[in-house]
Amino acid sequence: MKPAPFIRHVPRTLDEALKILSDVAPQDGRVLAGGQSLVPIMAFRLAKPAHLVDINEVEGLDRVASDGNVLSIGACARHAAFHKPVVDNPLGKLLSNVARHIAHYPIRMRGTFCGSLAHADPASEWCLTAATLDATMVAKSTRGERVIAAKDFFAGIMATALAEDELLVEARLPLLAADAKFGFNEFNRRAGDFALAAALVTYRLQDGKIAGARVGVGGAEPRPRRMAQTEAALNGQPPGDKIFRAAAEAASQAIDPLEDHQTNADYRRDLVRAVVRRALETSAQ
Ligand SMILES: Cc1cc2nc3c(=O)[nH]c(=O)nc-3n(C[C@H](O)[C@H](O)[C@H](O)COP(=O)(O)OP(=O)(O)OC[C@H]3O[C@@H](n4cnc5c(N)ncnc54)[C@H](O)[C@@H]3O)c2cc1C
Repeated sequence: MKPAPFIRHVPRTLDEALKILSDVAPQDGRVLAGGQSLVPIMAFRLAKPAHLVDINEVEGLDRVASDGNVLSIGACARHAAFHKPVVDNPLGKLLSNVARHIAHYPIRMRGTFCGSLAHADPASEWCLTAATLDATMVAKSTRGERVIAAKDFFAGIMATALAEDELLVEARLPLLAADAKFGFNEFNRRAGDFALAAALVTYRLQDGKIAGARVGVGGAEPRPRRMAQTEAALNGQPPGDKIFRAAAEAASQAIDPLEDHQTNADYRRDLVRAVVRRALETSAQ
C-alpha cells in the first residue's frame, strides 16, 4: 500500500520547525525524524498525517555532546551514532552495547534515538535505557520549553507526555561513575526483532558490595521502568549467582506482563527472570 496524501515541510531552523509544527499539529501534523517507524505505519495507512514536519535539515539537531556530567543527544542523532562509544565514560560503552540490538544496520543508519523515545514502543532499547538511567527529555514548542523526567515521559504503549505541538529536541543521560558496571540482555526470536523482554542493569561496587543498583525492564509491560524491589535485593550484597537469581526472581514477580499476539503473560514473566539474571551475569564478567 501507499501512504495517504500528505504535505512535507522541510524547515531549516528550529524556530521554523516549531512554528510549522504549531500550525499543522491540529491537522494531525507529525514530526518526521528517521521515518523508520512512521513511514511503515503510513504505508499501511494506520496513520494518515496530513502534514509531516521533516526535521532532518534543521542544523545542529544531530549533536551528541557531553559536558562532563550529562550526555546530550539531539533529535536527529541516529542509532548508528552509538555504534562506537560517543563518550569516554562507561555510558559510551553501555550505549554501543545496546545499540547493536536495535533492528538491522540500515534501520540504525536512519532511525533516531529521540524518535525511538517519542515513538515509545514498549520494547524499544533506547526507551529502556532512558528509563533505567533516569534520563530527562527536553521538549520545545512555540509555547516554550519543558524538561520531562523519564518516569513522567513514558505514558504507555506508544504514548508519551509530549503534546502534539512539542518537538523532542534533546534527551539527556547522566554519565555513569568511572567504575560503574553494566549489563544488558534481551530476548527475541530472530536477531533484529523487537525484544519480548529486555533488561539493563548498572551499579558500582563499594567494599565488594553492590551499591546504587539500577535495574530496568522493557518489553514486558506497556512502558519500561526501574524495578525497585530488584534494586533493593541487590544493594549491599556481594555480586554472585545466588543474589542475581534472587534479584531476577524479584523482577519477575514485580511485573504485570503484557499479553499480545507474540506471547502470553506466563512466558513473559519467565523471560523477565531470564533477561535480568543474564544482564546481571554480564555485568559481573
Ligand atoms: C524492521 C524494523 C525493525 C525494528 N526493530 C527495532 C528494534 O529492535 N528496537 C527498536 O527500538 N526499534 C526498532 N525499530 C524502530 C526504529 O528503531 C525506529 O527508528 C524508531 O522507533 C523511531 O525512530 P525514527 O527516527 O525512525 O522516528 P520516525 O519514524 O520518524 O517517528 C516515529 C514517531 O515519533 C515521532 N517523532 C520522531 N521524532 C520526534 C521528535 N524529535 N519529537 C517529537 N516527535 C517525534 C514521529 O512523529 C512519529 O510519530 C524497527 C523498525 C523496523 C522498520
